[in-house]
Amino acid sequence: MSNRDLINVIKREIDLADLTREHGILLNGENKALCPFHEEQQPSFHLHTDGEEQYFYCFGCGAGGDAIQFVKLMQRLSFKESLSFLAKRAGIPMDESKLDAAVEHDRCLSDVLAATAGFYQSCLTSDARQYLHDGRGFSDDIIRDFQIGFARGGLREHLAQHYPEDLCLEAGVLKKHDNGMARDFLYNRIVFPHLFRGRVVNLTGRAMGNASGPKYLHLPGKQRHLFNEDAIVKGKKEVFLTEGIPDCLSMVLLDFTRIMFQSLLPATRFTWCSMPTRRAAGVPEKLGNFLATRRGSCPLAQELYEDLRLPATN
Ligand SMILES: [Zn+2]
Repeated sequence: MSNRDLINVIKREIDLADLTREHGILLNGENKALCPFHEEQQPSFHLHTDGEEQYFYCFGCGAGGDAIQFVKLMQRLSFKESLSFLAKRAGIPMDESKLDAAVEHDRCLSDVLAATAGFYQSCLTSDARQYLHDGRGFSDDIIRDFQIGFARGGLREHLAQHYPEDLCLEAGVLKKHDNGMARDFLYNRIVFPHLFRGRVVNLTGRAMGNASGPKYLHLPGKQRHLFNEDAIVKGKKEVFLTEGIPDCLSMVLLDFTRIMFQSLLPATRFTWCSMPTRRAAGVPEKLGNFLATRRGSCPLAQELYEDLRLPATN
């Protein structure tokens, strides 16, 4: 069995609720608990066990991931040790010497993204918060739940305490300057982490003030997920795309929690339908459904369309 297969089998075999209970976490009826990774009075730690993949996520500190990540954080083990612990627990033989370096490397990249999002979250300036409140109407809950942060420098120094520079460059959160020095990829931007199944998979920075470059900047590399993609639930009749991440969050604020996500693709690739009656409520002017007639124009939309069998409504 390859390591990737092993990981998938382990994730399938492990009941995340049982695993968390074994680690002394008291889940309530809604699969919520006080977070074991930070101090709190109200439960922010959530288990998601009804989808295809089980994962945990804490709205307070942003810790999240699968069973392997849970063990890693709880027991302060390496990725390999956590995998070995879970393989033993599930009675699956595992040859540790054959652990695929590529698999472990992917995990390390993912850790860098999570650490970066956490750092930016801790750097959210009062100006940026004010902009999110007044300019966008975002509540502190939205800012917290979506781990919105601010890039104001200092990431390179912060990450250097825990991760090799090459890994941070590969993750895309640092870039090489002309003089050969590494520096932060995002600067003077509001940062929106993209979460997928409890893990940070990308970051988007929105320009503030004198930030150079485009208004929105994503980390380099192929975009494999959409912002708020976890909101897509199999069998749901509708999926809306918004033009930008703030539009998506405005919709979340209006309780469109389960159906919204944002396209990272140019809006012009889709045909938009306007909803003038909702404009007064602060809903973005343009909302789009996936359109059968246009799905060929965008491989990602097509993939999603086929995966989810989304009906076209226009
Ligand atoms: Zn937490």
